[in-house]
Amino acid sequence: MRALDIIRTKRDGQVLTREAIDAFVTGVTDGTWPDYQVSALLMAIFLKGMTLDEATDLTQAMVHSGLALDWSELTAARGTVAVDKHSTGGVGDKTSLVLAPLAAACGAIVPMMSGRGLGHTGGTLDKLAAIPGFRTDLTLAAMRTALVQTGCVLIRQTADVAPADRKLYALRDATSTVESKPLIASSILSKKVTEGIGALVMDVKVGSGGFMTDINDARELARWLVGIAARSGVRTEAFLTRMDTPLGLRVGNSNEVLEAIATLKGEGPADVEALSVHLAARMLVMSGVASADEAESQVRAALTSGRGLEKFAAIITAQGGDARVIDDPSLMPMADREILIRAPRSGFVSRIHAGMVGHAAVVLGAGRDHVEAVIDHGVGIDVLAPEGTAVREGDPVLRVIYRDTDRLETARARLTAAVEVADVAPTPAPLILETIHAIDAIHAQETSR
Ligand code: URA
Repeated sequence: MRALDIIRTKRDGQVLTREAIDAFVTGVTDGTWPDYQVSALLMAIFLKGMTLDEATDLTQAMVHSGLALDWSELTAARGTVAVDKHSTGGVGDKTSLVLAPLAAACGAIVPMMSGRGLGHTGGTLDKLAAIPGFRTDLTLAAMRTALVQTGCVLIRQTADVAPADRKLYALRDATSTVESKPLIASSILSKKVTEGIGALVMDVKVGSGGFMTDINDARELARWLVGIAARSGVRTEAFLTRMDTPLGLRVGNSNEVLEAIATLKGEGPADVEALSVHLAARMLVMSGVASADEAESQVRAALTSGRGLEKFAAIITAQGGDARVIDDPSLMPMADREILIRAPRSGFVSRIHAGMVGHAAVVLGAGRDHVEAVIDHGVGIDVLAPEGTAVREGDPVLRVIYRDTDRLETARARLTAAVEVADVAPTPAPLILETIHAIDAIHAQETSR
């Protein structure tokens, strides 16, 4: 099948066959399609869109471009499937560090492969790397051993996971075709399906701290994700969750690990605990570990009994990390300089702009502003007066933990702008905005064409 014919088909708005999509992905993987033809097809897809079947075929082809894992020997006897959770990225989002141990403590098998932080959103891998000794670059054999030992492993995507996606993502980045929803969804899912999971819970963030600021865009992306995953044999549910203000009270890598530990001790902020418990419970239901009636109480029991915390300690140890951080926060890297951002006037904190806080965290060194940037795990931002708090002029609202004075000045300007104070307290908004089920997602996709 000639590249030229495949490009022309999509250029003319027609549907690509599975054979055409397989030929494309094979050409990308083995390098027989030159970049200019790959880019031309990406632009045609960007402009003409895809059907759910095409996006599913693309996902499957990318999965098969590399290694696909299988954990059925661990799950079949239990009558369950391996399960993961994926977030589209937010500010202060440390829920993976809480819900993965909780779900594993309840009997789920969680082979979680994550990416690094993207833009202003923090990445699970960068947070875990703050724990002294913690290794995310496990071999497959070590991954299997850890999964057998603890039921949960948290690692980076290896080079043999969906290699076609890596090449396509780089070209999308260079040709302004990243923002196509079927391309985003197939890219995310190619890496998730490769994990060998049979169930997935998606957290699609909506607001200034996420990548989707508009709820209609977020809903559309969630439908693509759930629809493709369902067609790929992975039971999936998506939640649209609010990301206008940072999740929890701590942003930054060591900071977020410490807040995740506090949450597993039952001492975390209410929003982190509520979202983690809800998503962990849905993981149990989707994977067949617990019924819908019992899942939440099982997760709560794992939290209050301390089994979730013990599981996190076991995961840290299994991956070479120093589990003493659970009881001794001073073992986590932490910068020793701090300043306060104060309320500009008296009233109620009406807004702490998640996007600005996320960008300020990157400026401080908690994230990367270029691919090779080295993360400073010890810098971050603490929210001292969250949205709704009554403040007097000059009261501290944010604490900035920093190392470099030049970086501080840029971050300070952003953080000052991130805080808004009004005469009246803001109306509390729900954290979970909507649930997207597979059946509705597929129906919506099919009737939209
Ligand atoms: N994350 C991914 O893995 N792929 C995309 O296309 C966008 C975000």
